[in-house]
Amino acid sequence: MSERPTTDQLHRAFLEAERAANPFDPHEIRLSATGGCPRQQTLRILDFPHDPETPEQLSIFHAGHYWEDYLASLWEQQFPGGVNRQVTVDTPYGTGHIDLWIEPIHHLVECKTTTASNVAHLPLEEHLDQVNLYLHFWGNAQQATAEIAYVIKETGNILTFPVTYDPDRIPPLIETLQAIQVAVTFDQTPLPIPDGYHPAQFPCSWRKKDGSWAHCGYWRLCWQADRPLPDEEESIVPAPAEWLPVLTEWQELSQHIADYKAILKPLEQRKKDLEDALQAWLASTHAQGLATAEGFLTCTEKKPSLTYDVKAALKDGVLTADQLAPYQKWRANGVSWTWHPAVAEPQAASDSPPDTSAQKARRRSRRAS
Ligand code: SF4
Repeated sequence: MSERPTTDQLHRAFLEAERAANPFDPHEIRLSATGGCPRQQTLRILDFPHDPETPEQLSIFHAGHYWEDYLASLWEQQFPGGVNRQVTVDTPYGTGHIDLWIEPIHHLVECKTTTASNVAHLPLEEHLDQVNLYLHFWGNAQQATAEIAYVIKETGNILTFPVTYDPDRIPPLIETLQAIQVAVTFDQTPLPIPDGYHPAQFPCSWRKKDGSWAHCGYWRLCWQADRPLPDEEESIVPAPAEWLPVLTEWQELSQHIADYKAILKPLEQRKKDLEDALQAWLASTHAQGLATAEGFLTCTEKKPSLTYDVKAALKDGVLTADQLAPYQKWRANGVSWTWHPAVAEPQAASDSPPDTSAQKARRRSRRAS
C-alpha cells in the first residue's frame, strides 16, 4: 500500500483482515447451510480447494455484517443490554449461530440481505429451514418466537417475516445433516452432486444482472474434474470422424433407455399398489394365493435377512472408524460413462443467487419423498 492509501485500498485491506478473522470454524456442519447444497458442506469440511472469494463477494459479506450491526442496534435501543449476538446452537448434527436473540421477549431474529428481484420469493425456503432448525433444537425450549429480517440492498428497505415452527420440515433436514455427518466422519468423501443439479443452473451457477455468470466456489471441482474443458485437459480429444456415428448412437440409446425407464416407473408403482392391496386381502383371509381359470398367484413372505447398520453404529459411537479400518475392502466397480452436454462456462461469482421457484419445487419434492 502507498504512503497515502486510497479509500478503496483501505476498504480492500479491511475486507482481507475481516476474512482472516472469520470466527466460524470451516470444519463444522452448519445448520445455516442445511437447505443448500449438501455436497458443498462436505467439500468445505473436508478442506477441498475452492475459488478464493472475489473482492466483490467479500464486500457483500461485509455489507451483511454491517446491516446486522444496524438491525442489532435497533433492538438494543428497544431492549438495552438484552440483545445477544451469534448465539451458538449445538446439536448432535451440527452447529447453528442465531444472529440476534432478544432475551427479554424470547425472540430470535435472523438477518439477511437480498436483492429487489428476490422480494417476490421471500422468505426463501432455505432460510425458513435454518430458522426452523434453530427453533427445533433450541428456541422451542425457550418458548421463542422468530422472524427473518431482509434488508433490500438496492433500497435499504427492511422486510420482516414471522416464522412459525413447522415440525414437518425437520425430518428431511436431519436426514441431510446425518448424511453430511457420515460423509465427513466415516466415509471421508464428499457427498455426490445432488440429482437434478446442472453446471449452468442455480445453485451451481447463475446469471448476474449484467449477463455474466456467477458460480459456486466449488464449481470447477464439481464440474470440470468430471467435465474438463478441452484446452485444459489433454486426455479429452476431438472425436475422430469414424467414432461420430458411435457417439450419436450411444446418446440415442441412452435417451431411449431413459424414456423407457420413465414409462416403467409408474407401471412398477401401479403393480406394487395392486400387490399391496392383494397382500392385505390375503392376510385378512389367511390365504396364500388366489386362483383364476388361467392359473394362480401366490404371495410368499421372504425370510428376513440380517444386516448391520454400520453407519448408525458409528454415529452412536458404538464403533469407531479406526476399529473398522482393518476390515475395509475395495471392490472394483467397472467403468461408468457420462455424457457432458456442452454449456457455457460460468464466470466469477459476485452477487447473491436467486431462489427460483424451480428450486423451491425441488426442495418441496425432496421433502415429500
Ligand atoms: S458446484 Fe453445485 S454441486 Fe458443486 S458444491 Fe457447488 S452447488 Fe454443490
